[in-house]
Amino acid sequence: MKTSVLVVGSGVAGTSAALFLAWHGVPVTLVEKHPGSSPHPRAVGFTARTGELLRAVGLEGELPPSRVTKGFGIRRVRCASLVGERFEETFWSPPAEVSDVEYSPSKGVALAQDRMEPMLRDKARELGADIRMSTRMLEFSQDDDGVTAIVQGDGEPYEIRADYLIAADGHRSPVREALGITRSGRGYMHTSRSVLFRAPLEEYLKDGVGQFVVDGVGFLTTYGDGRWVLMLEDREYDEPELRQKIFQAIGRDDLEVEIITTGRWTITAAVADEFSRGRIFLAGDSAHTLPPSRGGFGANVGIEDVYNLAWKLAAVLNGESRPSLLDTYDAERRPVALLCHQQIFARNDGHNRDGEPEDAPLIDNNAMHYGVLYRSDAVLGAGPELPPAQVPELWNGQPGTRAPHVWIEPGRSTVDLFGRGWVLVADHPQWEEAAARAGVRYERIEQLDVFGLSEKGASLVRPDGHVAWRSVDLPDDPAAALEAAFSSASAGTR
Ligand SMILES: Cc1cc2nc3c(=O)[nH]c(=O)nc-3n(C[C@H](O)[C@H](O)[C@H](O)COP(=O)(O)OP(=O)(O)OC[C@H]3O[C@@H](n4cnc5c(N)ncnc54)[C@H](O)[C@@H]3O)c2cc1C
Repeated sequence: MKTSVLVVGSGVAGTSAALFLAWHGVPVTLVEKHPGSSPHPRAVGFTARTGELLRAVGLEGELPPSRVTKGFGIRRVRCASLVGERFEETFWSPPAEVSDVEYSPSKGVALAQDRMEPMLRDKARELGADIRMSTRMLEFSQDDDGVTAIVQGDGEPYEIRADYLIAADGHRSPVREALGITRSGRGYMHTSRSVLFRAPLEEYLKDGVGQFVVDGVGFLTTYGDGRWVLMLEDREYDEPELRQKIFQAIGRDDLEVEIITTGRWTITAAVADEFSRGRIFLAGDSAHTLPPSRGGFGANVGIEDVYNLAWKLAAVLNGESRPSLLDTYDAERRPVALLCHQQIFARNDGHNRDGEPEDAPLIDNNAMHYGVLYRSDAVLGAGPELPPAQVPELWNGQPGTRAPHVWIEPGRSTVDLFGRGWVLVADHPQWEEAAARAGVRYERIEQLDVFGLSEKGASLVRPDGHVAWRSVDLPDDPAAALEAAFSSASAGTR
């Protein structure tokens, strides 16, 4: 069988890849060796930037908003037990600087991964993605024209031929290993055991603390849906022992506790040294394994990877852009992963099990979520002198950064203007004419100052909502200037 893009892995990154590709109208097939999502959720905290990407594809309304108050990180406390004495408090994700600026039309999402992934999968299917669960990729090869994979579901192995392959096959990534792509970073840190259980403990969450480092037991947190997870040191536990650990962590043994499942986790920090090789792209944990112990980058960064990649693959597959556009995936996303790696170890995890924070400048959460800078051939005017991330009001519409949010009418943000196709944001008839000639959509907005433009300026925004180029004023020949910028940034074929 033939498809345009074959995605391997239906974790949060692969499923999002199938969803975003299908939304761009790209024929996509996904294979996942398991029948469904892991019954033991991992991530639960999704950022407002992830919320924006899901809003773009029409999913936002169905997602429960995070309970984290603006400006606050997720609070973590060291304690004798959940009900017992509480000692010093730290933050899992440090609080962002409190600012009057509203950064996003979206909210963070509080949803356990085993609930999030099926929603993404359903939406991807609804948009036409061909999702094959219980189907394992056995082997693959690539040549100048495409990728050939042998996969196996219930029956005999069969072949899938695709133009491109996305390896979202997790941190052990058989595809990355087969390609011989090395990784850099802190490496293996430790192994943890966990027990997932259900217990009526909501009353202990009222003061907003959601994570508990319980002296002498382990780390306790909740998925916010009645399920809790207790992380323990790595050894075998039988059920009575697990119950005893749970009761010890809670500090009460008079509650009904249902053990759901257990887990064993290798906590590793590593970033692949290449995010693509030929027609194969790494995404999610396969590209970067970012430990969850200090801030929640892993799942969110994986979703952002494939949002970055999907429009580029769509543009190349439909002939609008030259394949060189795909080189910008590594150029843009690998530095973000390396920055996240640095920020994880610059943060204090409350008990610093894997060492004290490293001496690197701590970047504000709002800067990490809304203000990373892309430097690549798909951006014009993002020089090496610029910092890797800062808050949107400091960027002021800088090319390479996410186009800023401002409401253009009730319920409609500038962020909602972007998603499919290139957009020119301006408020001048000559730019409107220039956009028509260049074949990009023109969006007239009045709040050009947040894009760092004069009232005669214009910004060219990519389908992923990042600014590719801007002209602060009206040049002598706006049509020629736009045409040149668009052709260069989009690796245009016209
Ligand atoms: C305890 C814990 C808590 C976490 N909490 C957070 C958090 O709050 N926020 C956050 O952002 N991140 C968090 N993370 C990190 C986050 O869970 C991961 O970054 C994320 O799950 C990675 O998703 P993925 O799709 O890249 O990989 P995975 O979820 O590992 O998916 C890879 C998939 O590929 C499949 N696969 C592999 N090989 C093949 C093959 N040959 N054929 C077919 N299928 C194959 C696997 O079966 C698997 O389903 C946490 C991680 C842990 C361990």
